[in-house]
Order: sequence, then structure tokens, then C-alpha cells
Amino acid sequence: MTSTERKPLTVVLASPRGFCAGVDRAIQIVERALAKWGAPVYVRHEIVHNRHVVESLEAQGAVFVEELDECPTDRPVVFSAHGVPKAVPAEAVRRAMIYVDATCPLVSKVHLEAERHHRRGQHILLIGHAGHPEVIGTMGQLPEGAISLVEDEEQAERFMPPSGQPLAFVTQTTLSVDDTARIVAALQRRFPDIAAPNKEDICYATTNRQEAVKAIAPRVDAMVVIGAPNSSNSKRLVEVARVAGCADAHLIQRARDLDMRWLAGIDRLGISAGASAPEVLVEEVIAACRAVAEVTIEEVEVAREDVHFKLPRALAS
Ligand code: SF4
Repeated sequence: MTSTERKPLTVVLASPRGFCAGVDRAIQIVERALAKWGAPVYVRHEIVHNRHVVESLEAQGAVFVEELDECPTDRPVVFSAHGVPKAVPAEAVRRAMIYVDATCPLVSKVHLEAERHHRRGQHILLIGHAGHPEVIGTMGQLPEGAISLVEDEEQAERFMPPSGQPLAFVTQTTLSVDDTARIVAALQRRFPDIAAPNKEDICYATTNRQEAVKAIAPRVDAMVVIGAPNSSNSKRLVEVARVAGCADAHLIQRARDLDMRWLAGIDRLGISAGASAPEVLVEEVIAACRAVAEVTIEEVEVAREDVHFKLPRALAS
């Protein structure tokens, strides 16, 4: 096919998309730990949920493991951006290991809120997805039984509180803003005195990426979200796109997952990327589109982000 035969395709880029400040910080922590202590540096769980990021850190000498007991005691270990139960750093101390906690400060904020509620004698409902490392980390901040997980509206309707204890709720940072609002509304209707977070727990990056996808979904024929299948915020972007008017929305890890049949017969393709997906993967997908179509780029920006988080003191200089 020659370029004159190519069909035109408008690629509509959602903005903001891709890396957030917490992911950027977590990656920098691993890179600086490698520079400071040399390889190997162990990382408990994928530092962020993205294979491209993990593989590029592995190439620099990071070793990814799922549990602390897989790490030798004489090498440093980094805890992922999702946060860890309190037992994990306690075990690292017991084993006299050097560790660096790359938990996103916005996840740590939720941990502190949960502790505050617990000190006040409140039973805590955590709105989130069972099995996600952030949920495991948040539940692991407090003794067993102090936090109940609520995954959806149905569970919010059925939840039976422990008798005589006031209630409070916190949420995972990467949920669907709209689904969470419905779950919270159900809880507040059933328990009007339930204490809420001082400031929304769903983070700025999740909120902005969902708003940007909502803005472009009605203006495109199909959409791809670049992100990992285990990335909560990326999966939510696909759901948000479908609800907002783009039924043909797909999660892909990188350009090789792009099914060219999705581009057949469409004029406008939306692209976004989850908070753990680097921009290079967006560029790769655009290049794949350019290989088969005459691409024009449009960018729809709904917010500007200038959030930066400080590095831990041990790695700051
Ligand atoms: S998505 Fe939000 S909570 Fe998660 S690392 Fe990024 S800024 Fe932090």
C-alpha cells in the first residue's frame, strides 16, 4: 500500500495520560538505589504495574520478587509504590536489611487516615478491589478485623457493621470516581454518621486520567488504553471510556497488541495510558497507526499536572 492509498486517521490523545508523580518517584527510587548500592537491588512486587518499566529496571540490575523471604539479607530491598502491610518493613528490620519504601505518598495518606480512624475507635470500611496489592497493604496497616473490604454497591448494601462501633471509610486510590461515588452514597444513606476522608482518597492522577478519557470518549470511534492487565487505574480507564460513549475500548500493553481490525472503518481513534505506562509506549502505538494510516494528532487536555513527590532522604542527594 502506498502512502497516497492510506486512509486518514485522527488520533485523539487524552491529556493527562501516563506516568503520575507516584510512579515517577518509585522508578527513581529503584534507579537511585542501584546507583547508591550497586546491583542487585531487590524489589518486592512489580515496582509499578508495567512490564516495560520492570524489564528496563531488570536490565539495570533490579531483581523483582513477590515476598521478602526471597531476598538475601545483605542486599537492599525496595517496596513497591502500592504500599505494603506493616509486617513487611517490620520483618525487614528483624532481618537487619536495608530497605527503601517507595509507597506513593498518596497511598501513605490513606494508611494514616485508617490509623487515625482506628485510634478513634471507628471500624473502617475500605472501598477497593480484593487482592490488589494496595488493598493488601492498606488492610495490613491495622490488626485483623479492624477493616472490612467493600468492593461494590451490593456489598455496601449488605454490610453489617460490628455492633456499637462508629464507622469510617477510606478508599483505594485508583478506583472509578463514578462507581466509588455510588458506593459511598449507599454507605452514607445506610450510615449517615459514617466518617469520610478529609480529602478524596482517589488520587489526582486517577481522577484527571478518567476526566480526560470521558472528554474524548464521545468524540472517537474506538479507543485504546495502554496499561497492564493488573493495573487498576488502567482497567478503570477502559470501563470509563465504555460508559462515556466509546463501546469499542480496549486495554493493550503495547503496540504489538493493537489489532489492526480495530482501525478498519474508523476515522477517529482515542488513546490514553494508565498512570504506570510510559509515554514511549504511546509513541509506539502512534507509530503503529502511522504505518497503516495518514495520522493527524489532536490532543484534548482537561487538566495540567505539576505534582512532584520528594524522594526518601536516604536517596535524595
Ligand atoms: S496512581 Fe495515584 S496513588 Fe497511584 S502512584 Fe500514581 S499518584 Fe500515587
